[in-house]
Amino acid sequence: MPIPLVLRAALVAGVAATGAAACTPQAAPTNAARAVDVASTPAGPSPAASPPPAARESPSPPPPPAPTPVVERGDGVLSVVPGAGPVSGPGAPTAYVVEVEGGLGVDARAFAREVDRVLTDPRSWGAGGRRAVRRVSGGDVVFRVTLASPTTADGLCAPLRTNGYFSCASGSRAVLNSARWLTGADAYGGGLADYRAYLVNHEVGHVLGRGHEPCPGTGQRAPVMLQQSKGLDGCVANSWPYP
Ligand SMILES: [Zn+2]
Repeated sequence: MPIPLVLRAALVAGVAATGAAACTPQAAPTNAARAVDVASTPAGPSPAASPPPAARESPSPPPPPAPTPVVERGDGVLSVVPGAGPVSGPGAPTAYVVEVEGGLGVDARAFAREVDRVLTDPRSWGAGGRRAVRRVSGGDVVFRVTLASPTTADGLCAPLRTNGYFSCASGSRAVLNSARWLTGADAYGGGLADYRAYLVNHEVGHVLGRGHEPCPGTGQRAPVMLQQSKGLDGCVANSWPYP
């Protein structure tokens, strides 16, 4: 049998600090409670009348995967995830790269796939096929989606104050704070998968030129450009530009 080769490509991109940042959180964040998955304790064995005849190890259910701990400061090196993603629609796609800071303990390819799933969703900025997007790993790109530790995100977002908590858009880079990616935001009313979709769509919305929008009314669907990490202002959480 041939020895399988493990192909590794790490394209290191420079951390280019750009000027304008679009996301403008002002308030200091509430102390972020780290969401910890609570493993449900399996019910103990019921007091059986008769033990099984053979001394058999009853297989205990495997423990749930431990949540990835938040790293407050990564190594500061952003690496473009190699490969390409699917195309979401007809026409020349808007190209983007996904880059992940080293030292986060996050599976970069899995992160890229999740970003791809969000951005190629018909409810995202492609608007059901009106705009095609595709992740690439080089060449001319329109924007970058960057996962960075809180400390590095603060640096990438400066002079905007993200306080180790918020994400931002800086120039053509959507900077996602890894702590928010991993644990969500208390002020957001939905689950983590929905929050991640919101985070990607909101910051990519900025790099595509969209500004913030208010909640239109109590009980209504939040615009994706509402700052839902800070609260919903009476709106219902929503992750999508074209829900
Ligand atoms: Zn924003």
